[in-house]
Amino acid sequence: MSITNFFNIDNKLLDLSEKALAATREQFEKIEKVTEFNQLKVLNAFIKNGVSEANMSGSTGYGYDDRGREALESVMAECMGAEDAIMRHNFASGTHTLTVALFGVLRPNDKVLVLTGRPYDTITGVFGIDEVTDGSLADFGVIYNQVDLKEDGTPDIEKIKEELSKDKYKMAYIQRSRGYSLRPSLTIADIEELCKAVKSVSPDTYIMVDNCYGEFVETKEPCEVGADLVAGSLIKNPGGGIAPTGGYIAGTRELVEKCANRMTCPGVGKEVGATLGHSRELYMGLFAAPHTVGEAVKTAVFASFLFENLGYEVTPRYNETRGDIIQCLTLGNEEGLVAFCQGMQSGAPVDSFVVPEPWDMPGYTDKVIMAAGAFTLGASIELSADAPLREPYAAWMQGGLNFHSAKAGILLAAQKMLDKGVLK
Ligand SMILES: *Cc1c(COP(=O)(O)O)cnc(C)c1O
Repeated sequence: MSITNFFNIDNKLLDLSEKALAATREQFEKIEKVTEFNQLKVLNAFIKNGVSEANMSGSTGYGYDDRGREALESVMAECMGAEDAIMRHNFASGTHTLTVALFGVLRPNDKVLVLTGRPYDTITGVFGIDEVTDGSLADFGVIYNQVDLKEDGTPDIEKIKEELSKDKYKMAYIQRSRGYSLRPSLTIADIEELCKAVKSVSPDTYIMVDNCYGEFVETKEPCEVGADLVAGSLIKNPGGGIAPTGGYIAGTRELVEKCANRMTCPGVGKEVGATLGHSRELYMGLFAAPHTVGEAVKTAVFASFLFENLGYEVTPRYNETRGDIIQCLTLGNEEGLVAFCQGMQSGAPVDSFVVPEPWDMPGYTDKVIMAAGAFTLGASIELSADAPLREPYAAWMQGGLNFHSAKAGILLAAQKMLDKGVLK
């Protein structure tokens, strides 16, 4: 029995797949240890907060006294190593969640310093970096500055310290994941070093981390190493592939309250918000998240080995330490990129018959092609790939609800490149 009972995969690719499984064994063992630690952390948080079946029945209208919502937010706070948290289906996306957090904390004339170079594409408009977009932080008088990454893609700690000692900054902002760039993702150790550097020069500056794609990849979260606030999306890691939409914010009690006042209304904060029928999915998603993230990391490691051995530049390499679930594969040209995404899509459980094409997407500057055959629209904790059509024609792939199906998706992506004559 093998994949060839169901899919046509070239023998050379199958051999390489076997080689990849053998070579990545040690990595897989490490991933499983992290998964187990985080699973027990989450389980413990459920037990400590006395989660019960009644917590999942949901509320309507204002959602006053929704015990299930409150318990979920306590569980999430505990999982993120934070004092308090907000976790809601009402957040429309990760960007929306980050926007609420930024507007919750920053006031007109406050300065914000981004420590990790130009932020993720959809966040640039929130800050109003290139132009003062309507309703952006810049439009409200928040002053933006960034410290570019060094040549090797790592944060420039000396420049960061210098900038923070020159000027008073309300917030230092860190992006954990690489986004659509080739820089390495930050590990928890990197984030700890950055937090120490910030606090050593400017102890009153709040540190916020865009935690997208990083949750449960390591055994600690940013608030456990010095961050004051984190935010992320529930259709990525912490939704476990089950949450149908939403976002979370976690951090100090003070900052979470500020964010809650912005999320609903001043003085009301977290006390309202009907959960409708979504509590069960958010609970189940959070409970599944450590395992799902482990499967996604295994998928990334497998793909990294496979494509490196097919002759492509990959980052991170299969045996490098990872700070998120993203795997970047530099496929070199448009044909390779398109074939890769089309092949991956053909192995998806949902919409396998769809043939993805590059298109103009709201919030992104270049045309983007995506492979996204997911149960939840746009859920990138499910096996997916995004690729802006620009040099160096790299695909950023992530997710995989379970390793076995995700592995098939990756082999089908390579197979499609072979079929189209664009595989190296
Ligand atoms: C996904 C992501 C976001 C949020 O994106 P949405 O598509 O709005 O959920 C923000 N920052 C980074 C680094 C991301 O990966």
